Amino acid sequence: MGSCETCPSKDACGSKSDNCESSCSKTMPRYGNIKNIIGVISGKGGVGKSTITGVMATTLAKKGYKVGVLDADITGPSMPRFFGINDKRAMIMPLENDMVRFDPVVTESGIKIISMNLLTAVEDEPVIWRGPVITGVLKQMFVETNWGELDYLLIDMPPGTGDIALTVMQEFPISEVIIVSTPQDMVSMIVKKLVIMAQKIGIKIRGVVENMAYINCPDCDKKIKVFSNKSSEEHAEYLGLPLIGELPINIELTEALEQGKAEDYVRENDLYSLIFEGLY
Ligand code: ADP
Repeated sequence: MGSCETCPSKDACGSKSDNCESSCSKTMPRYGNIKNIIGVISGKGGVGKSTITGVMATTLAKKGYKVGVLDADITGPSMPRFFGINDKRAMIMPLENDMVRFDPVVTESGIKIISMNLLTAVEDEPVIWRGPVITGVLKQMFVETNWGELDYLLIDMPPGTGDIALTVMQEFPISEVIIVSTPQDMVSMIVKKLVIMAQKIGIKIRGVVENMAYINCPDCDKKIKVFSNKSSEEHAEYLGLPLIGELPINIELTEALEQGKAEDYVRENDLYSLIFEGLY
């Protein structure tokens, strides 16, 4: 049962009724108080959703917010790599009555991360579970993590409209979602399904980030389009969503990511702060 006053989705669920608390079915975190929960979603894999989650978390922390990240991609987690914490382990604290508490790994700039890859014994141990088990574990990671006080919790969701996306959107007190896409007709068509799904569930969609929208010509600094001649604005218009911003393909970012230094790179590169400036 949730408390409406502190619920991150109180604006979305119309919690004005007197008996809101008794009728609330949202899953709430047990340890901590989270002001805003943002789902980061994409129609297809590989468009940069996890990268954008990491970039957003870093820019929010740079602004002085208290930030956490829940890596909800249980079978393909990548947040620990972004933050270069893949050799660390989250603490699993046994409590009374068979309860546990997960203590997240904290990054250099103070972002709290929980991910399946921080809970398994080693990073490359696969999770071979069916949908209902995965969904149960994700709920446990959300509920039992020691988040403390957070301004923003970003949830890096697996791509598409599957089980996990449905569970998170229906059961977690999401404030809003951000969609990550690449400016391609095929991708936009699949994203549209996600948009319709979120609208049916009644989740607010803040807008779309068009990732890998261009490369910067190294000689003349001109923006060269890669996937489509259409602009990011045209793709956002097709989706009927505001365009939050567009990001170039940036090999320096990929390299920083592979060296576990993406957090530093994003903090030092004003382009990323500018893209999300004014959003939060
Ligand atoms: P998704 O979460 O959508 O599956 P990822 O964030 O894992 O996608 O990104 C897929 C790959 O593309 C990663 O190797 C990542 O480093 C790279 N990538 C994502 N966005 C960019 C970008 N703007 N510039 C360069 N490489 C990127």
